[in-house]
Amino acid sequence: MRKKIVAGNWKMNNNLEAGIKLAQEVLEKATGNEEAQIVLGTPFIHLNKLAESIVGKKGIEVAAQNCSDKASGAYTGETSAEMVKSTGVNYVILGHSERREYFNETNQELAAKLDLALTNNLVPIFCCGEPLEIREKEEHYAYVKQQLTESLFHLSANDFAKTVIAYEPIWAIGTGKTATSAQAQEMHAELRNHLADHFGQELADTCPILYGGSCKPSNAQEIFAGADVDGGLIGGASLNADDFLAIVNSF
Ligand code: PEP
Repeated sequence: MRKKIVAGNWKMNNNLEAGIKLAQEVLEKATGNEEAQIVLGTPFIHLNKLAESIVGKKGIEVAAQNCSDKASGAYTGETSAEMVKSTGVNYVILGHSERREYFNETNQELAAKLDLALTNNLVPIFCCGEPLEIREKEEHYAYVKQQLTESLFHLSANDFAKTVIAYEPIWAIGTGKTATSAQAQEMHAELRNHLADHFGQELADTCPILYGGSCKPSNAQEIFAGADVDGGLIGGASLNADDFLAIVNSF
C-alpha cells in the first residue's frame, strides 16, 4: 500500500516562537496513530529547533521549503541541501509554484535541487501544477507531465522511489477554489501513468502523489477519496493545529 502523507506548508509565516508553539500544539494533539505521515514544512529558522523537539515524536517529520541548486560556495543567502540535512530534518519541499513564479525556478534548476536533496538523504516533495490559462486551454495534462519529465526523469529508480509528488493547480492555491475531487483524481491518475511509462508500473504505484490547493477540513475527505490521491500539501489550513489535524484525520 502507498504511504499517505499530509504535509503543511507554513510559507513565510510564524516567527521562531510562534512556529515552535504551533508545532508543539500539533505534537500534543496528534495521537501518533494517524493513518497519514505528518510533515510540517517550516521556514529555515525553525528547522533545527523542531528537529530536536518534534522530529520522530509520534512519527512527525519536518520539511524545509526549499534548498539551493548549488552544493556550496559563494551564494549569499542560499541554504544548501547538506545544510538542511545537518539541522536534523528529513524532508524538503521543492518547486512550489510560488518559488517558480516569484523566484523564477525552472524545471532544470529543480532537477539539480532534487539531485542534491536525494544525495543528502532528504525526501523531496516535488510540487507541480498548471496556471489557470493552461487549464482553460485544456493543456494541463501535457504541461504538468512536462514538469515531471524535465525535473524527475533523469533520476535513478532508486532515487525516484524516495520521491514524493504534490500536484497543486496554481489557480487553487490560496484562492479558496479547490479542484473537484474528480479533477484531482484525473490528474493524479494521468501523472501516475506518465511515471509508469518511464519508471515502470511497480515504482509508479508506490509513489505518493499529494493534492494541494485550498484543502480544508470540510473538503479533505472528498478529495482524499480519489484512488490516486495519497494525501495533501496544505498551506493556509496548516497554520491552525486543529484544522491541520482534522485534515490529517480525513482518511
Ligand atoms: C500551498 O501553498 O501549497 C497550498 C496548497 O496553499 P493553500 O492550502 O493555502 O491553498
